[in-house]
Amino acid sequence: MTLPEALRVAIIGAGPAGFFLAEKLLAQNDVPVSVDLYERLPTPYGLVRFGVAPDHEKIKNVTRQFDKTAVRPGFRYFGNVDVGSHVTLDDLRRHYHQICFTTGAQTDRHMGIPGEDLARSHPATEFVAWYNGHPDFTDRTFDLSVERVAVVGVGNVAVDVARILCRTEEELAETDIAPYALDALRASRVKEVYLLGRRGPVQAAFTNPEVKELGELPGADVRVPPDEVTLDPVSQAELDRGEDHSAPKKVEILREFSTRSRAGRSRLLTIRFLVSPVELLPDGNGAVQAMRLVKNRLVAGKDGAARAEPTTEFEELPVGLVFRSVGYRGMPIPGLPFDERAAIVPNDGGRVAPGLYVSGWIKRGPTGVIGTNKPDAAETATAMLADARNGAGPSPSESRTAIESLLRQRQPALVTFPDWQKLDRLETERGKALGRPRLKVTSVEEMIAALGRG
Ligand code: NAP
Repeated sequence: MTLPEALRVAIIGAGPAGFFLAEKLLAQNDVPVSVDLYERLPTPYGLVRFGVAPDHEKIKNVTRQFDKTAVRPGFRYFGNVDVGSHVTLDDLRRHYHQICFTTGAQTDRHMGIPGEDLARSHPATEFVAWYNGHPDFTDRTFDLSVERVAVVGVGNVAVDVARILCRTEEELAETDIAPYALDALRASRVKEVYLLGRRGPVQAAFTNPEVKELGELPGADVRVPPDEVTLDPVSQAELDRGEDHSAPKKVEILREFSTRSRAGRSRLLTIRFLVSPVELLPDGNGAVQAMRLVKNRLVAGKDGAARAEPTTEFEELPVGLVFRSVGYRGMPIPGLPFDERAAIVPNDGGRVAPGLYVSGWIKRGPTGVIGTNKPDAAETATAMLADARNGAGPSPSESRTAIESLLRQRQPALVTFPDWQKLDRLETERGKALGRPRLKVTSVEEMIAALGRG
């Protein structure tokens, strides 16, 4: 067995999973490594740029860590390169010992109910990508002339969407929200927002700081129907088992919300539990005008986890806009196996096949916060480095310089990390002039033109 002179790694996807993995590989001294980080868009950071809510500026500070990785010797960024069209997996295999996909979960789950695809019913992920200026979503329109909106699901994405809908114009104007979204939200006539959980407060997926923040919005009163935070025996037993340390506090926060009366803020945010949408009802033009809900009760599943079971009690909620926020979903990667049920690439600690790996959401599913990707990356990096030490996996036939020439030939508008830094400075300078953290460039053409390459 001979150790490769330097292990050459390609990571596909420059979100947190990709950057944390690059850091793990480059920060060790055992195996010499070079990393090329590929990204389909010109801009790096994935969901930190396009997922984290614009009013959560501090969470985005994690990019400072990524920027330190980007200046490590042996790191290259290849932005605006679509693996699958500009270069194939076979091309990459000729140039790298190891390839790791960190492409995340790029689509959304469906509720599977009649009317789900009516006009004015949207995946929350699209609304998020739109207000964050993702170039693929700038052309979406959301009818904010309606007064009542429902967000289905009680995860952190649902909370983000509800909060952005409830923020005042002044609050939004201090963020890096996309300029067109700021205009649209300024003109919003939304007065009531509903967050709909199919199970109870104990099982709610949102985290405590996020739900607490909903009670501190200057522009919206928050409300929870008291009977929906009264714990049933299944929830009480779950709470008593103490497996989820955050649950007691969560219940306390929600109970406090349920005691509040209206304080005269212009919007009302209602958090509901134990209800599931069963149908979206159309108006005469085929757009949502109401949602039919069924009341649920909780039953203990075989594993002890509470499951929502529909009762025979129904109600109609008049809402003109629906965001389904029931989770992201991974997409198959050509050339790699795919588990349709879990929507992940099946793997063993990140290993998929000799020389092929996964990390992040496409490895474990769309769970956890940004930092969860760090231990996940450590596990994948351990597998990759062990394989390199053991000489497992194929050896590339082409040199490290050959791939850059090939890429530049296939994609003349390739974006390097210094290119991104130039764009970053431009965005922050433009933002500063308006008293905002940055003014995002939201089209790929504009980005390339701004780099003087259009
Ligand atoms: P999530 O945390 O998995 O929440 C999905 C929600 O949808 C759950 O409440 C789930 O209820 C519900 N749901 C699923 N299927 C449903 C159905 N058919 N009908 C009704 N409700 C349904 O997913 P997410 O909100 O998309 O977030 C993804 C990940 O990103 C999470 O780990 C989240 O914490 C993270 N994130 C973090 C932040 C932050 O830290 N600020 C912000 C955004 C996202 P059940 O529990 O009953 O299945």
